Amino acid sequence: MNYFRILAFLLIFSVPQIVSGQETRYSFEKGLMGSPFKLVFYTTSDTLAKRAADNAFRRVEELNEIMSDYRDGSEINRLSAQSGSGKWVPVSKDLFDILAISQDISKKCDGVFDVTLGPVVQMWRHATRKGTFPSEQEIADARSKTGYNKMKLNAKTRSVLLTQKGMRLDIGGLGKGFAAEEALKELKKLGITSAMMDAGGKIVMTNPPPGTEGWNITISNGSDSLKTIQLANTSLATSGPTYRYMEYKGVRYSHIVDPKTGIGLLFHVRTTAICDGGTISDALATAFSVAGIEKSKKMIKRFPGTKVWLVERKGEQVTEWSTLSR
Ligand code: ADP
Ligand code: MG
Repeated sequence: MNYFRILAFLLIFSVPQIVSGQETRYSFEKGLMGSPFKLVFYTTSDTLAKRAADNAFRRVEELNEIMSDYRDGSEINRLSAQSGSGKWVPVSKDLFDILAISQDISKKCDGVFDVTLGPVVQMWRHATRKGTFPSEQEIADARSKTGYNKMKLNAKTRSVLLTQKGMRLDIGGLGKGFAAEEALKELKKLGITSAMMDAGGKIVMTNPPPGTEGWNITISNGSDSLKTIQLANTSLATSGPTYRYMEYKGVRYSHIVDPKTGIGLLFHVRTTAICDGGTISDALATAFSVAGIEKSKKMIKRFPGTKVWLVERKGEQVTEWSTLSR
């Protein structure tokens, strides 16, 4: 997982296409948070388009400064460093908001989604780099420092208490969705209301392109099956082991960890979640992946309006569950 490493600072400004009346289609791309961030929107002037894209990407960079687990000085790492001190630490609105959403999802998902998995994620990252497999003891030690109930939030004072020493927060499971959602708010401030941000498979959309019913989004089951759907004013996130996994002695482990075992998922899941909100759709794609098809069928009831396409691979056996057409 190289979630918050900024891979490239490439800003691509494509030739705009005039579409309807005065509205022109613009697209920009920038490497942020370890993924390509692609921004498409419709507006009336090159100057406004450039300003909008700059503001949107600047907002993502600002969030990366706060939430990157790769920077020692990031706000999230400074907060983690105070774990076990008994202190309530005041935090920025951005950090508080993302932790509050995470906590709510953890509660509704019986902990399959958990931003306190940092020690376990760090252990796997280290093992992947070294090509080793952690011992049972190491896994147990890392797991003992996790648990969403050990993260306390006080909305009145906007502060956080991490009750145990050695805790470490990791918002890799929902950070890109949060950033995509926040980036589109910057466009709205400038009056741009037909827009789409694709943050490495975490897609947030406002109104459809002028004269159309929606944004055409193609999703896949990870191999042979593709679906194109038209969406607007919603969010879609896909999670899957396409790029990020660890292979040890011929066995592939996902970078998505089951909090109950502290080990990366062994059955390979590709999950697409569609719902209102980039942060929630990103978190749910991760959460449904951990829960698997059977548990997800129950879990989805706690998230009205959510649609999901879940593909599980256990060896040669592929099982799918989809609520997309409902
Ligand atoms: P990606 O961003 O790679 O598409 P996800 O949105 O599914 O994937 O997030 C995976 C990341 O979330 C991991 O790299 C790790 O930082 C974190 N993570 C892993 N397992 C969990 C989990 N069970 N709950 C919450 N976050 C997790
Ligand atoms: Mg996710």
